[in-house]
Amino acid sequence: MTARRLDGTAWAARLRAELEPRVERFTDLHGRPPGLAVVLAGSNPASEIYVRNKIATVAQHGCRGELFRLPGTASVDEALALVERLNQDDDFDGILVQSPLPEGMGEDAEQRVFDAVDPAKDVDGFHPVNVGRLVQKRPALVACTPLGCAELLDREGIPLRGKHAVVIGRSDIVGKPMALLLLHRDATVTICHSRTVDLPAVCRTADVLVAAIGRPGFVTADFVKPGATVIDVGINRLADEAEVQRLFPEGSAKRRQFAEKGSVLIGDVHPDVEAVAGALTPVPGGVGPLTIAMVLRNTVTAAELRARAPI
Ligand code: NAD
Repeated sequence: MTARRLDGTAWAARLRAELEPRVERFTDLHGRPPGLAVVLAGSNPASEIYVRNKIATVAQHGCRGELFRLPGTASVDEALALVERLNQDDDFDGILVQSPLPEGMGEDAEQRVFDAVDPAKDVDGFHPVNVGRLVQKRPALVACTPLGCAELLDREGIPLRGKHAVVIGRSDIVGKPMALLLLHRDATVTICHSRTVDLPAVCRTADVLVAAIGRPGFVTADFVKPGATVIDVGINRLADEAEVQRLFPEGSAKRRQFAEKGSVLIGDVHPDVEAVAGALTPVPGGVGPLTIAMVLRNTVTAAELRARAPI
C-alpha cells in the first residue's frame, strides 16, 4: 500500500482563495484592509523566512502586512512597549510575535510578550484567554498549525467521530491545541510525550496519528496501524550526509536534493511510513502551507470580530 498524499499546498491555495471575498467586503465596509503586524526581534534565519512568508501571503490576498523589527539586543520591556503600541493601533487587527525571542530577553520573555497581546488581535491563538475559550469550545482565535491540521482533516473527509486520535507532543503551540481540536470533533484522544511508556504500541492503536515532536524521521512504520491517517507537523532540516543516507534510499528524490543543496527538509515521520499509512501529509507541502493560510484566516476573522462585521 502507498499512502494517499494529503496535499497541504493545494488545500492552502483553496482556503486562501475562499478568504478573498471576506477581505474585499471588509475593505469596502471599513475603508481599509484587515491588517497584520508581525514583530521580529533579532535575525534568526528561519524566523526571517517565516515572517517574510506570512507578510507576503497576507499582502497577496489584499490585507496589509507590516514587519516591526527589534534589534537582537532589545530588552523585554522594549518588546512589551511595541506590542502595547500595536494593541492601540486600530489599523492592525492581528499581532504576531515571531518565536523564538532573543535569549537575552530572559527565560519568561515569550510568555510575558505573548500575554501582552490584546486577545482580540491574538492571531497566533497563544493568549490564555483564547486558549481557555478553545478548551471550552467557544469561538476563539486558535493556534494556526493545529487549526490548519484540523481543517485538512475536515476537508479531506477523514472520519474523527469515535475514532482514536493520538497526538505525539504536548507543546502549547501544537500538541495541546491539536488534541483539543480533535476532541471537539468527537475523537477519543491520547496525548503522548517524551515520558510516554511504549510509545510505538500506543501510536499503533491510532486511527489518526499527529506527530509534532521535532525529531527527524522519529515515527517509523512500527508506530503506524495499517491504513491510519498520519499528519506530520515536524519540519527538520537535515544537513548531515550520514543521516540522509540512513533515512532515504539511494536514487530517491531527497538524496538528489541533498546532493544539489547540501540539506533537505524532513518531517518527524520516517519515509517508510508511506508504505503502511492510508493517508499522509508530505514535508514540505503538508502542514506548513496550511499554517500560513490560517495566519491569513485568523487575521481576517480578527478584523471582522473587532469591527463586529458579520463573518
Ligand atoms: P516542542 O519542542 O515545543 O515540543 C515537542 C514535543 O515533543 C514535546 O511536547 C515533547 O514531550 C515531545 N517529545 C520530544 N521527544 C519525544 C520523544 N522521544 N518521544 C515522545 N515525545 C517526544 O515543539 P513544537 O513547537 O510543538 O514543534 C514540534 C515540531 O513541529 C517541530 O519540528 C517544529 O519545527 C514543527 N512545527 C511545524 C509547524 C508548521 O507550520 N508545519 C509549526 C510549528 C511547529
